[in-house]
Amino acid sequence: LYDEHGFDPREVQSVEDLHRIPITSRQALQESADHDVVAAGTDPKRLIVRSTSGSTGRPLKIRRTWLEQNLLHLYRLRALESFGLSRRDRVLFIANHRPPHPSDSKLLGRTLTALKLYRERLDVRASEEPAAIARELMRFRPQVLSGTPNLLLLLSQALTPRQREAFRPRIILSGGEVLTAVQRARLEAEFGAPVRNVYSSFEFAVLAWECPATGAMHTNDDAMILEVLVDGRPAESGEAGEVVGTSLHAFAAPFIRYRQGDVATRGVTPCACGQAFATIAQVQGRQLDLLTLPDGRVLHADRVLALLVAGNAWLRHYQITQERIDRILIQVVPTSELSTETLALVHGKLRALVGEGVELEIRVVPNIPLEPNGKFRAVQSLLSAGSGAEPPGPATTVPVG
Ligand SMILES: [Zn+2]
Repeated sequence: LYDEHGFDPREVQSVEDLHRIPITSRQALQESADHDVVAAGTDPKRLIVRSTSGSTGRPLKIRRTWLEQNLLHLYRLRALESFGLSRRDRVLFIANHRPPHPSDSKLLGRTLTALKLYRERLDVRASEEPAAIARELMRFRPQVLSGTPNLLLLLSQALTPRQREAFRPRIILSGGEVLTAVQRARLEAEFGAPVRNVYSSFEFAVLAWECPATGAMHTNDDAMILEVLVDGRPAESGEAGEVVGTSLHAFAAPFIRYRQGDVATRGVTPCACGQAFATIAQVQGRQLDLLTLPDGRVLHADRVLALLVAGNAWLRHYQITQERIDRILIQVVPTSELSTETLALVHGKLRALVGEGVELEIRVVPNIPLEPNGKFRAVQSLLSAGSGAEPPGPATTVPVG
């Protein structure tokens, strides 16, 4: 890659030179042989290997030494501490837990737990029925509940009125998917506890976590260099661009200016709370959550969502699928009886946004299934799904409007 771009790593003398380094894509790493993505002198067989869920195409293998793997764990602990989690808290994690890799003894976590320096946790599989998770919840009685926003919402709906009355968590941890303002408000209302958001990925673990004082997201500046780029230049505060990350603790298999595939809005630096971290104001999510319209406009899904959810208390669950360049399907699960007038009103607003050249269907359904990996995509474009194609390049990553 560097040869192709005529780039010599010796040119890099300080962080100021970072922008000279060509950006690496997920696809480039996927297509490379094992020995090509690890550092010289590193035996790939001795590394801990984890695989991404591949929700956007082919999975990516991530390789770390034991120390690198466990260091990331400590960054996560720091974020949790800042949310006010105490070491005595019981935490219920709803996620797709994988068995540990043979090279990973989990020694650090086990030691911390044995010394009572780490909290009690229960892992529940995301693929379990929400009612079964609700029963686990009532048995374990966690103070902290962690999961993707959509799984947490499904769980809240599965609670019986009596369970709901009896279960009062202190903190709700949201991660793994974009958390929308509507989801946050609903989760806080359902569980009666504040929601704290973590922006994480397989590649970098914690990229940013919510500042409890300002609501901005602190970027994990001593673990990685997080860039937000617009046409290759750094985004200004308030400007949205693509997230590119450089890990400061990945020596066995480096991530250097790696395109994460998300769009985020740059916040103020440093954070107004007084801590030294830079911030991002908002994570808009996967670049694939962009809808490309026949007239050439690229519409960020947030704008469609904003129209769909604004003032619509009847909306329990939804999914937006761009099936073709000229066809968008919006599936909605209503909480109550939905009048045709309401539907027509929503349809009219959405029509005004996407224009006349697009077939727009709003379909009322009883439920929307999760993907096989337990995740839920509120917005998906089938235009590029499964092709393993690159997310759209910088020229198309900036949301319209
Ligand atoms: Zn802050």
